[in-house]
Amino acid sequence: SVDPAFIRTITSAEHVCGEKRYKCSGCLRYHDTLGSLMSHIEQGWREGFSCRVFYLKLKSIWEQSLLT
Ligand SMILES: [Zn+2]
Repeated sequence: SVDPAFIRTITSAEHVCGEKRYKCSGCLRYHDTLGSLMSHIEQGWREGFSCRVFYLKLKSIWEQSLLT
């Protein structure tokens, strides 16, 4: 499954219309909370999103970059 620590590390809050928002790097949609973003990544496939696959790929690239 997707590592919450990894999601927290790579996701920064953005201010949209004065509100904090967390953008999904997979589909570029905004979420109100980091928890909402994480459940979207984990459960989004139910609604046809493949963001989980995107994040798993991103994590493997990120881990490789730490090793080199
Ligand atoms: Zn998404």
